[in-house]
Amino acid sequence: MDSDLAIDWHARAKALKIDGLAVINGKRVGAADGATFECFSPIDNRKLCDVASCKSADVDLAVSAARAAFNDRRWAGLSPRERKQTMIRFADLILVNREELALLETLDMGKPINASLNVDVSSAANTLRWFGEAIDKVYDEIAPTEDHTLAMITREPIGVVGAIVPWNYPIAMAAWKIAPALAAGNSVVLKPSEKSPLTALKLGDLALESGIPKGVLNVVPGFGPKAGSPLALHMDVDCIAFTGSTGVGKKIQVMAGQSNLKRAWCELGGKSPNIVFADCQDMDKAAAASAGSIFYNQGESCNAPSRLLIERSIKNEFVKKLLEQLPNYQPGNPLDANTSMGAMVDCAQMDNVLKYIASGKAQGANLLAGGERVRTETGGFYISPTIFDDVTNDMTIAAEEIFGPVLSIITFDTEEEAIRIANDTQYGLAAAVWTRDISRAHIVAKRLRAGTVHVNSYDEDDITVPFGGFKQSGNGRDKSLHALEKYTELKTTWIRLA
Ligand code: NAD
Repeated sequence: MDSDLAIDWHARAKALKIDGLAVINGKRVGAADGATFECFSPIDNRKLCDVASCKSADVDLAVSAARAAFNDRRWAGLSPRERKQTMIRFADLILVNREELALLETLDMGKPINASLNVDVSSAANTLRWFGEAIDKVYDEIAPTEDHTLAMITREPIGVVGAIVPWNYPIAMAAWKIAPALAAGNSVVLKPSEKSPLTALKLGDLALESGIPKGVLNVVPGFGPKAGSPLALHMDVDCIAFTGSTGVGKKIQVMAGQSNLKRAWCELGGKSPNIVFADCQDMDKAAAASAGSIFYNQGESCNAPSRLLIERSIKNEFVKKLLEQLPNYQPGNPLDANTSMGAMVDCAQMDNVLKYIASGKAQGANLLAGGERVRTETGGFYISPTIFDDVTNDMTIAAEEIFGPVLSIITFDTEEEAIRIANDTQYGLAAAVWTRDISRAHIVAKRLRAGTVHVNSYDEDDITVPFGGFKQSGNGRDKSLHALEKYTELKTTWIRLA
């Protein structure tokens, strides 16, 4: 938007006052033991604020506030219309505060301000609004039964939902969890990532301002093992909704089983294949989408198309087009409105990505571009867009999720080979097929083991469709009406009529 381009985000950043307190039972509070952790910006490694470092005692307080709110039905017991209107007010308030939220997101996580403003914050508002709108439009069922009986099949809120979210799309991922959970009538305890907690804390304030009763949405910032584990192990949490790495997702499932067998939904990592056949109808578009989707968000996207499978006969031409895209993705200051690639979330993540780049070189992949830390003089953590050619699917860079701006090119000769390589991964989050042949598009899409398959596009998306993975990319789905099911129990009420 033109008016956004006119904003001096650097000046706004200097003037911003940031509050790192938790949100428990309707109040901004410090951790029970007074502990805090320092929150730094990856843009320049400047300290932003101290954040409450929540632990078991704080999680207990948040869960009991959520339980009390659930038991007295101060939220679930409101009329559907009232809850709908409250959630829509929540969405509106996100938009009223969009500039502050976008600034917090960019400072905290390093993504370009334009993306924070026009993608992440807008999408969070849209998610809240969409699920709020659904509240008075979703009906229950009556089963077909004999005369003199009535069997109702109803969905009820599950109770207290613990939501643990990652750092890569902090406000959007929080919204994907809390919107359907609140819409279904639950209370929520949200645990944001320690690497990017700031927008979640602000969401806690805005929920209260919108009229969501106290205790219904609590936000406990803190480290995974200290604040996330007590939530996943809690005996009074009915459901844990997790988005993050596959490794931690496995632990979450164990913790659910070790405690009260709470429902555990996990949205996990990916290593998504992007297959370009020689009959691709628009190679320019395919090259732009391939680059755009791996370098967007600094490559820190679960569904990033990190494996590019190209048919041998078009490989050279396609790679040339891909390289022409690189000037569009050179890292810049995330507070500049025209920056398209920002900083990695922190030094540890940058180092991890650089290690993968070193492993690609060591295992014989051919580095075509990038591969380095850049903008070191800023004090921040930036990596140039990186492309490896001559990658084989057994190399570490093709097998493991790098979560950085690193693309691996793998060449294939036949459709069968492309499908085999695409599916030869522990993950199954997303995939894409580029072809002008409608039959091939359907056949290949059907055989790809992934939660979302794009045809002649990548990353096109809407709140109306489910998002989630096959295999070790997790279970359950965020977005769409399917997400509501995760946060409900199914009840049969069988009535004998006189
Ligand atoms: P992570 O697994 O390290 O952390 C995710 C969350 O879990 C954080 O809040 C963290 O504090 C918490 N956590 C860490 N250890 C924990 C423990 N022992 N017990 C309880 N909680 C714990 O993931 P990340 O690095 O924050 O995020 C990146 C990962 O998220 C990538 O693998 C990415 O693919 C995945 N992701 C998946 C989706 C999806 O929808 N499938 C979306 C975004 C990100």
